[in-house]
Amino acid sequence: MMTVLGPVAPTELGYVDAHEHLFLRSPALPTDEFWDGEKSTAEAASVRASGIGTIIDLTPVGLGRRPVALAKLSAEAGLHVVAATGYHRVAHYPAWHWAREVSEDVLLDILLTDLTAGMDDRDWAGPRPVPSTVRAGIIKLGASYQRITGDEHRWFRAGAEAARRVGVPVAVHCETGTAPHEILDTLARLGVAEYRVLLGHMDRNADPELHRELASRGAYLVYDTVGRIKYGPDARILDLIESLAAAGLAGQLCLGTDVGRRSMLRAYGGGPGMDVLGREFLPRLERRLGHELVDLVMRDAPAALFSGRP
Ligand SMILES: [Zn+2]
Repeated sequence: MMTVLGPVAPTELGYVDAHEHLFLRSPALPTDEFWDGEKSTAEAASVRASGIGTIIDLTPVGLGRRPVALAKLSAEAGLHVVAATGYHRVAHYPAWHWAREVSEDVLLDILLTDLTAGMDDRDWAGPRPVPSTVRAGIIKLGASYQRITGDEHRWFRAGAEAARRVGVPVAVHCETGTAPHEILDTLARLGVAEYRVLLGHMDRNADPELHRELASRGAYLVYDTVGRIKYGPDARILDLIESLAAAGLAGQLCLGTDVGRRSMLRAYGGGPGMDVLGREFLPRLERRLGHELVDLVMRDAPAALFSGRP
């Protein structure tokens, strides 16, 4: 598998924070962008200090990726970073955005370049790319609330094809945790098996039966509102994990915080900070369900997702 500093074995990742953004700019989040290399490095170093060895950065094409800065951050903060390529849900791209206009061949070409040659250091924002040798290691896609819309279907087709060809997993933004079965069905039709898919934001739809169904299909779930209390107390996430563990399905679960706003980052004077997972949540999880369970969701589940084995 590929990190921003080159290939590593999935078993070398250590504990994995499976959903973050180290740089982000989106018209959907005005005034909440973050772009400063030193501040993001400080956040990543705090994640490292909390005992986590790898950050999966799920910022897709055109939303402010800084591949060269990511590689520098990874080296300075002393942790692995897996970068993403792919296309988010339509709300993140204005109506005039090129990703809505170009052919599916061009959409695919950009993903393959990011995965196999290196990402454009201008994040495909202008007519003249600034090639880097920093490669993406995961595909990010997005669906709208309750459905996959027109442009999202085009981006799913390109993303699935790139994932199939290069052999990388696919992380999907499920808006408020909706439409996960439709997303898995769509990807399966496009040749991406459930065990290569990470469904994001499932704890926003805190439905234990649904989560057991999805995990039983072989998909990976990520609970990624850890520390973001406006969506509910962390105890709700502990309850969901306990329910999956009781069904023997915790090996399909990953964790993250997705503190993808300037106002949530301590480096900008906000909170809870990207390290809230290791700092506050994992000690609670260990007290509730034990150390082996923490190893399972933080280390073994992400390693299995990247291994490409069912
Ligand atoms: Zn996110």
